Amino acid sequence: MDLLNTLVEKGLRRELPSREEALAVLATSDDELLEVVAAAGKVRRQWFGRRVKLNYLVNLKSGLCPEDCSYCSQRLGSKAEILKYTWLKPDEASRAAAAGVAGGAKRVCLVASGRGPTDRDVDRVSQTIGAIKEQHADVEVCACLGLLSEGQAERLKAAGADAYNHNLNTSESTYGDITTTHTYADRVETVRHAQGAGLSACSGLIAGMGESDADLVDVVFGLRELDPDSVPVNFLIPVEGTPLAKEWNLTPQRALRILAMVRFVCPDVEVRLAGGREVHLRTMQPLALHLVNSIFLGDYLTTEGQEGKADLDMIADAGFEVEGTGTTTLPEHRAGGCASACGSAADDATADVAAPVGSPAGGGPARTDLVTVRRRGAGTDLAPNA
Ligand code: SF4
Repeated sequence: MDLLNTLVEKGLRRELPSREEALAVLATSDDELLEVVAAAGKVRRQWFGRRVKLNYLVNLKSGLCPEDCSYCSQRLGSKAEILKYTWLKPDEASRAAAAGVAGGAKRVCLVASGRGPTDRDVDRVSQTIGAIKEQHADVEVCACLGLLSEGQAERLKAAGADAYNHNLNTSESTYGDITTTHTYADRVETVRHAQGAGLSACSGLIAGMGESDADLVDVVFGLRELDPDSVPVNFLIPVEGTPLAKEWNLTPQRALRILAMVRFVCPDVEVRLAGGREVHLRTMQPLALHLVNSIFLGDYLTTEGQEGKADLDMIADAGFEVEGTGTTTLPEHRAGGCASACGSAADDATADVAAPVGSPAGGGPARTDLVTVRRRGAGTDLAPNA
């Protein structure tokens, strides 16, 4: 297919595809799926070989958020029967993180529900970062605390944080349909704050919320413009008790096309398969490893993932290898952070998240049997899944 040859050539040169080319990837048929995966897989292997980076989520504070993000089980007024708790103590968070590190996680993502941290919250998280780094000096710590105020990114950086996550989630034009309590521009500003403080920026999207193909391409091009070092791709987990609970619009094939499109647009960026992979890709998960170079190990913020051992077996069986702490994730030309990157290129509970507004994709019947609320790990007395 000429389209795929062009996209591979561009990906190997770190050249931005056109919007039409990105849309054409999403419009390919199921008969063409393996060719699409093979093509995007060439780009993935060029920049990341067969390595898979493992990331581990610790939900520092769960539920009771005053914001109204429709996809989120922790939102204001959510009826989802999730765990609700306030800030974990540094030693509790460090113990939870240790389970992920023991399972092979190279990055620990410290997430808290809420609009954004107070300065006191930044103090707490700083202590938690210190506690984790004391036990695991090599582990990368990413904070995900919502919208940042002036100076907070610098304080997190000084406390030892390596990265900050704040997802754009969906296109600017549909943002107001998903959330009314903050804007797309607020999110962009926080990512820029993080980058300005020297933190590695992590920002991604949620597919499956009813967006069109054009919306998906818009948000991915918006991300490329922001140039984060890592891009988590979430597939909506339609949790009962949230406004998007009935939105089951993704098929495994559609999810794979979305991941391939993201890889072509962000060829040399850490593309992370995030929330919803078990629910939407199901038995097709191993194919996604040809597209992404990073996944979460074990459970998500408020829902359960597959067993950590199953993740590790899947990686080995598919012929990939877990990336060690001695290996730099990003290619050399990006290793210095955003400024050295190619030309243009939870909160957020988005790691928890989750195809739907009039989506033409058609995901089949709802599979609520696949969504299990997290009852173990952080905030419980039960051992975490890693
Ligand atoms: S995504 Fe974050 S800010 Fe939005 S409702 Fe959930 S916890 Fe609150």
